[in-house]
Parts: sequence; C-alpha cells; structure tokens
Amino acid sequence: MPNFFLRSCGSRSGRIVVGWVLAGLLVAASSGCARTVVEDDPALVDDGRPLVLTTFTVLADMASNVAGEHLRVESITKAGAEIHGYEPTPGDLRTAEQAELILDNGLGLESWFEKFVERVPAPHAVVSANVEPVYIRDDTYAGKANPHAWMSPVVAETYVQNIADAFVTLDPGNADEYRTNADGYVRQLREVGNELEADLSALPDSQRALVTCEGAFGYLARDFDLQEAYLWPVNAEQEGTPQQVVRTIDFVRNNAVPAVFCESTVSDKAQLQVAEDTGARFGGNLYVDSLSDADGPVPTYLDLLRHDARLIADALVGQR
Ligand SMILES: [Zn+2]
Repeated sequence: MPNFFLRSCGSRSGRIVVGWVLAGLLVAASSGCARTVVEDDPALVDDGRPLVLTTFTVLADMASNVAGEHLRVESITKAGAEIHGYEPTPGDLRTAEQAELILDNGLGLESWFEKFVERVPAPHAVVSANVEPVYIRDDTYAGKANPHAWMSPVVAETYVQNIADAFVTLDPGNADEYRTNADGYVRQLREVGNELEADLSALPDSQRALVTCEGAFGYLARDFDLQEAYLWPVNAEQEGTPQQVVRTIDFVRNNAVPAVFCESTVSDKAQLQVAEDTGARFGGNLYVDSLSDADGPVPTYLDLLRHDARLIADALVGQR
C-alpha cells in the first residue's frame, strides 16, 4: 500500500495503471494528498474525482458531456481567451500537475502546448486524431492543417469518440457509461447538423459563401458545401491588413456575397469596413475559439453550433 500512496500523489502514469484497480481503497486512503485546493484558482476544489484538463473551453464542454459524473473536467484557458498564442501561467502548470489526463486539439492549434505538456507528468490525448485535415490555402500558412476542425459538427463526432477512448483508458471501470454518453452526445450533434443543412438548403449555389475574419470555417464549409473566404487564416499578429481587406472586398464583390461575419474573440473593425465598401450586410459575430461565460449566449458547444448556424442562415438566407 505505501507504494500506492506515493504513486497516487506523484507519478501520473502510476495513477493510471494502478489507481483505478484499487480506486475504492485509494479514495479513503489517499485523501490526505488528494483533497486539495488548486493554487491560484480556488474554484478548482478537488472533490476526489480524477481531474481532466483541456486546452480550451469548447473541448472542456464536449469532454464534460462524455464524462458524466465520473470525472472533473476543467479548461486551462478561460471563456473569451485567445487560445492560439496563449501563454500558460505558473498557476496553470501547478493545476496541470494535479491532472490525470490532458486533452488538446492538435492540428497546430495550441502553439504553446508542446512545451507546456513536456513539463506535466499526466498523459495527453489529441482529440483530432483520425480527422481528415483541411489545409490552409493562404501563402503564409500554405500546407499547414487548419486547426479549427471542431467547427463542423460532423468532425466533432470524431472528437467525441476520441474523448470517449481516452476516458475508457483512464477509467475502464466506467467504460460503458462513457460510451453511452458519447453516443447520446453524437445524436445531439447530428440534430444540429441537420438543422443547419435544412436552413442552408434555401440558399442558391451562388450565395453559399461564408466570409469571416479568421479562416476558422474550412471544415464547416467542406462538410456543408459552402465557399469559404476570410480576412486572415489564423488569429495572429497580422489581422486585417490593407491587403487582406482588399482581397476580401474583391471576393465579396465578385461573388455577390450578401453578408459577412467576424468572431467573438477578435476585432470586427476590418470586416465592418468590408461590409461598408461592398454593401454586404454585417451578419454579426460568430463563436469559434471560445465559449461564452455561463450567462452569455453560448455557454456550451451545442449552443455555439446552434448560435453560429442561426446567425449564418439568418444573414445569408435573410428570411427571418
Ligand atoms: Zn482560431
């Protein structure tokens, strides 16, 4: 038993291999080290359940739906945060040291993650594994995968299955429940996808174009037969340069695009200029890289998908 105490407080791999076999014993025996308050974030009170950390809020919500009551899921970046170039804090590292599993998006989304995870003992799982990438066309990113695969509810099904697989490995005793939760969640994703498909079916081919600030909709465009154009490929330093604005104005004019959009975590100034110069309607801000706070418009990932689908259909179809 003393070995188990040591491993349950220290090595994460030891916890995963050993911890669940003797979970009942350990909950009682190791409470001295497990029931702690995570430094820098008093909200993260350890309630005895294994901690799963995700890199951003969208993944945390997906993972919570699969986890049910068995795991405690938290996001490293908070609602509204910039996730591409995030700089982890010492507090994030201390929180991560308490985690049993870390879920990251992969596809180059989290430029900060590789160094971060090197310093954390917990295993990590890439939720975009087996996703067929969409590649970025823009010169500066040419040949790189577009990281925003979760923006298609069709691709999200793969995310959910990968999350379920990771949870089954972490906690095989509750495998059936993780699989059942994942199946139920996938059914909800399909409902949202069907609604979007039905809404967009009213659009003539010439108006099936999605023009946004960040090029985050490549997967949605691929899976729902839309043309995609954007001001900049990935949120970074160069956002809304004169060249990007001119190129987008040309696209909107050449394709008679009725509406353009931006996203909640970036400035919409450049896209408002595109709208003004072309006469296209500004359709509003889409949610992509982060959920909102609990009392905001998209506290869950399904809310995010529905919100964006409604905004896109309303502005492009213009019937509601
Ligand atoms: Zn992004």
